[in-house]
Amino acid sequence: MFKNLLPLTLILFFTQGTTYAFDYNINRKYDVTRAFLEVNERRIYGFIKDFSSYRTRFHESADGIRAAKDLYDSWCALTDHRSDIECELIPHKSTPQSSVAIHIKGSTDKHIILGGHLDSINTNSTDPNAPAPGAGDNASGIGVLNELINILMIKNYRPKHNISLYAYAAEEVGLLGSEDIASKAASNDKKILGVLQIDGANYKAGPKSIVLINDYTNYEQNKFLGMLIDNYLRVSWGYDKCGYACSDHYSWHRQGYKTSFPFESNLDVENPFIHTENDTLAVTSFSATHAALFTKLALSYLYEMDK
Ligand SMILES: [Zn+2]
Repeated sequence: MFKNLLPLTLILFFTQGTTYAFDYNINRKYDVTRAFLEVNERRIYGFIKDFSSYRTRFHESADGIRAAKDLYDSWCALTDHRSDIECELIPHKSTPQSSVAIHIKGSTDKHIILGGHLDSINTNSTDPNAPAPGAGDNASGIGVLNELINILMIKNYRPKHNISLYAYAAEEVGLLGSEDIASKAASNDKKILGVLQIDGANYKAGPKSIVLINDYTNYEQNKFLGMLIDNYLRVSWGYDKCGYACSDHYSWHRQGYKTSFPFESNLDVENPFIHTENDTLAVTSFSATHAALFTKLALSYLYEMDK
């Protein structure tokens, strides 16, 4: 979650990426429910614990730069046995921190994208090395993506379309990693069916289990996510808005791509410990239950888009 307003220039200019009309429907119930059986809450918890054990993942800190490289090594190791998968460490001009990606090759020229940010921040201090465990924001989201990779490998999943999972650098200081990646995708005229943002996935508060952010996102794809929740998760959900460019979905939206951002709670009851040294697993009672639910949402999105 990003807390400051972006410079006005970033808000004013929208361009048009290549998106495609997509027939949103649900017809892979067998595959999705089989994949759900592999969701491993303990593994998600273990990932969040490890990834929040860096002193900070701030984009300009040595620890934050190392966290990105470690994630790259780990995602490469998970996918090493598959020649159709590329793992990528993506350097940026705007930040010393790299983004990390996994690309699974499909047999069409279309792409499906899921992402979340890997960096963290402590907004109570100007010291780049101030403690910022960022367990909720956003080790939880990267934990969802990490679990997705694990499950896709267990299922030996071979997609129809190209699938990319991104762990973006430097979201907390103005969406720097995703801005670079999304603008390059648009200038290469990348054909993207849809983009899903996972930022804040483990903090349950208020009456809604999942809240779809409905500004700077796509109306039709958001409705589709509602269908996925009703069909596969059967939990309460609703809509809310950030009112500004609050996460990396904005970078894709700005390029004209269809994007959605399912969030862990309503904004008025959001995790009060984000961006502090207290954003730890203690906040969620040392559980990853909510992140397991978000993993199922991301899995159902991936399978039902990939056809
Ligand atoms: Zn944040």
